Amino acid sequence: MRGFAYEAQPMRVVLRPGASVTATPEEAERLGLRRLLVISGPRGARTARAVADALGEACAGLHTEARMHVPAEVAERAVEAAHAVGADGCVAVGGGSAIGLGKMIALRTRLPLIAVPSTYSGSEMTPVWGLTEQGAKRTGRDPVVLPRSVVYDPELTLSLPVPLSVTSGVNAVAHAAEALYAPDASPLVSLMAEEGARAMTGALPDLAAAPGDLDARGRALYGAWLCGAALGATTMGLHHKLCHVLGGTFGLPHAETHTVVLPHALAHNAPAAPEAMAALCRALGTDDAPHALWDLAGRLGAPRSLAELGLKEADLTVAAREATARAYANPRPVTTAGVLDVLKAAYEGDEPRTHS
Ligand code: NAD
Repeated sequence: MRGFAYEAQPMRVVLRPGASVTATPEEAERLGLRRLLVISGPRGARTARAVADALGEACAGLHTEARMHVPAEVAERAVEAAHAVGADGCVAVGGGSAIGLGKMIALRTRLPLIAVPSTYSGSEMTPVWGLTEQGAKRTGRDPVVLPRSVVYDPELTLSLPVPLSVTSGVNAVAHAAEALYAPDASPLVSLMAEEGARAMTGALPDLAAAPGDLDARGRALYGAWLCGAALGATTMGLHHKLCHVLGGTFGLPHAETHTVVLPHALAHNAPAAPEAMAALCRALGTDDAPHALWDLAGRLGAPRSLAELGLKEADLTVAAREATARAYANPRPVTTAGVLDVLKAAYEGDEPRTHS
């Protein structure tokens, strides 16, 4: 058996229908918080208001200015808002963007954070923060940004449109897939990753067929939790690097980019990660995980090519160069030629081919 190190994250998780309004006040009370700033993006303002109302006197204010990739000026205004109301904590309601803003407030002020996720991005499970300054996104790790409590409410995700549900779900599966072959993988985290991928890929076809299916929505959030926890516990490889470059440098949308790139990045890494691929195949009930994910995206109407997402062919070499500029962990050695092959296949939306 390979040796490992495992660290449990100090966090409480509640998952049940209606929890955003019933459990958030309980979580605030448990943490002894009485002046919470509730934050969201503009589109999530109505839900955030419902959470704020449920908090009653424990809500000190509502701030609905979260934006994708946490621009520095947005973070600054949110920190000011927290100071202005004398907040003793924050509740972030929404997807990775709103939770990302909550993390920046936590980083700057050390205030505790409660997360109420409304997508499957998994940010709520990680101590990783991100901030965009002058067009460049920086990320870092700090345990202070890890939410103290996470409230998963399947009812909150009923409004998540099917296309975004599908791509956000595959985004979660990407965390699990790379966690399985991470250099710091460990047995419990690998179990979580495998079960997370199983739950998510099982739930997606059901919720795509019936978006109001609360049971499928619950299973998807359960999968998001496990996949996010696997992300928070491990170091991601080539796939996440490529998506970071494509989002950061070319402005491609986060979840859609993950959905397009994942089958190709996995087909590339598969020969160097047989155990991880076996686990992913078990989770997906297939003998070819990259192909099964490509097939799932196609069946559920998700984008399958970077061209569809607006990337230009000439950008591929720039992206390949950026993705290989600095060394990082990946089961297969990262070369510009290898990365360019992955990007070309993802650009065309070809069937993924596992090749050694
Ligand atoms: P997002 O938060 O930007 O949400 C996408 C869109 O969906 C937004 O327009 C939002 O208003 C809408 N939306 C969200 N929930 C909804 C709901 N229930 N009903 C209807 N509409 C809803 O996107 P995301 O994919 O959740 O998160 C992406 C961001 O999170 C990126 O910036 C990414 O880098 C970051 N992220 C960070 C980590 C981390 O560990 N730090 C992990 C994953 C993602």
